[in-house]
Amino acid sequence: MSKPQVSLADRIARSIRMDGPMPLAQFMQFCLADPHQGYYARENVLGAEGDFITAPEISQMFGELIGIWCVAAWQAIGAPAHFVLAEAGPGRGTMLADMLRAARGTSGFCEAVELVLIETSPAMIAAQRENIPDLPVEPRWTGSLQETGEGPLVLVGNEFLDALPVRQFIKTGAGWRERCVGLDENGCLQWIAGAGLAGASILPSSAAAAPVGAVFEYGQARNAWMEHLSEMLVQRGGAALIVDYGHAKAGLGDTFQAVSRHMFADPLNLPGQADLTAHVDFDALRRSAAEAGAHVSPIATQRQFLLSMGLAERASVLADAKPAHVGARIESGAARLVDENQMGSIFKVMAVTGPDDAQALAILPPFAGD
Ligand code: SAH
Repeated sequence: MSKPQVSLADRIARSIRMDGPMPLAQFMQFCLADPHQGYYARENVLGAEGDFITAPEISQMFGELIGIWCVAAWQAIGAPAHFVLAEAGPGRGTMLADMLRAARGTSGFCEAVELVLIETSPAMIAAQRENIPDLPVEPRWTGSLQETGEGPLVLVGNEFLDALPVRQFIKTGAGWRERCVGLDENGCLQWIAGAGLAGASILPSSAAAAPVGAVFEYGQARNAWMEHLSEMLVQRGGAALIVDYGHAKAGLGDTFQAVSRHMFADPLNLPGQADLTAHVDFDALRRSAAEAGAHVSPIATQRQFLLSMGLAERASVLADAKPAHVGARIESGAARLVDENQMGSIFKVMAVTGPDDAQALAILPPFAGD
């Protein structure tokens, strides 16, 4: 298939002319997921040279500790001889490579793994192929959670859910209206208030007294994904660990942002060339998981989770007998992951499991708490 010649901005404008104002979620979907011109179809978006940096790209210890969590989860569910280890949105595959290196020492783990990478971007898949180490069974790629096979499932996802679109509603003099992208008189993209909110029951209790201009974000696609994952865990057994930036209590506020080259950008300027995200509402995810019958952990901060997984101990083992500048780099990587004013408190960790495995997993953070 050859690449389309029309720019993404023009295609969005054309769609608006035909169908009317485009809700934010649909705009995000266009900008992020378009197979040719979407943001994740680009190369090198991740890392110091790209637009943003993630925890596994900061320190190998992040992926190692997640790998140890997966080993412990597998052991807790009875060390089945076959299980699916899946990662949602594996980026460059760095976390998975670190996870598997840490897990390799556990007898039977790698032999039991059927590795599934849930990824939609061809550019990311190419990077992942380069970085994933050899396993007894070839890894498999799929674009959908649905196709993660059968049997117990251990799934991890770091900064995956924030890449799925959100809807936004703005309080106006005439009630809550959906935030949409429309066209100004010159045909340029502009924000406009679209249709009214029909299902007011999704609003938090603070919405009634909120002033005009207040914003409510609704992660419909994210919640649906979590509900689906939870249903699978209830049926198949296993557990999932979700790490992302966001809030543990639902509320009002506009967290939608565009980031390009480590700087905030205008989301309507050059669609497809900036990362578009919004904070993850963990409270809503928890409700979606519980409605599907899953057992949900407390929502921990990344700091609480990594420290209870042994980050400080791992850092000192790694730094031991290394030259001072290497030791300093290891320590500063660890600090970046857990310092309150860096990634330590804005990033949250939540785990989900089916009722059959809940008791066995209760010993593991974040189920176990501090
Ligand atoms: N987990 C990685 C990458 C985070 S970026 C890290 O921590 O470094 C988000 C990742 O999710 C990218 O790999 C992106 O291509 C992928 N992604 C985005 N939307 C997706 C979707 N709908 N389904 C599967 N993967 C998706």
